[in-house]
Amino acid sequence: MKAANDRIEQLNETIQSLESENKSIRESHKQEIDEKDEETKDLSRDLEKFSAEQSDKLATLRAKLATALQSQAPTNTDMGENGTSKKRKMSFSDYPIDAASRKPTIQEPCHFHLLGDCRRGARCRFVHPDGDDLVRLRLELKEKKV
Ligand SMILES: [Zn+2]
Repeated sequence: MKAANDRIEQLNETIQSLESENKSIRESHKQEIDEKDEETKDLSRDLEKFSAEQSDKLATLRAKLATALQSQAPTNTDMGENGTSKKRKMSFSDYPIDAASRKPTIQEPCHFHLLGDCRRGARCRFVHPDGDDLVRLRLELKEKKV
């Protein structure tokens, strides 16, 4: 009977030591978990701060861009043939080009001009004939087509 009691006592001791070990493991893990929680909180705080900074920067850049575009945009209003001001869509021909580049650089009649509508106008790189030349060239174009 004594041997059995000893055995039980021994087992109880083992159980107790296991329990205390278990408890200390749980505690140390709890501490780790707490630390991780803190880290996570710190990181999300950093992240919040970072994205706030980024959206501030983005807003500043957008404002700068808007200002730059406004100061560069040419006037949107052209005088119409009858002297009244007419609004039209912006096109690449609205952008200022220096006088030299307005001269035709390709010594060929502009196909669109001959057809009656060259949207590039004075900035077209092809020749825009007028008067008799224009009439003649338009006729030639018609004959070529037939
Ligand atoms: Zn043209």
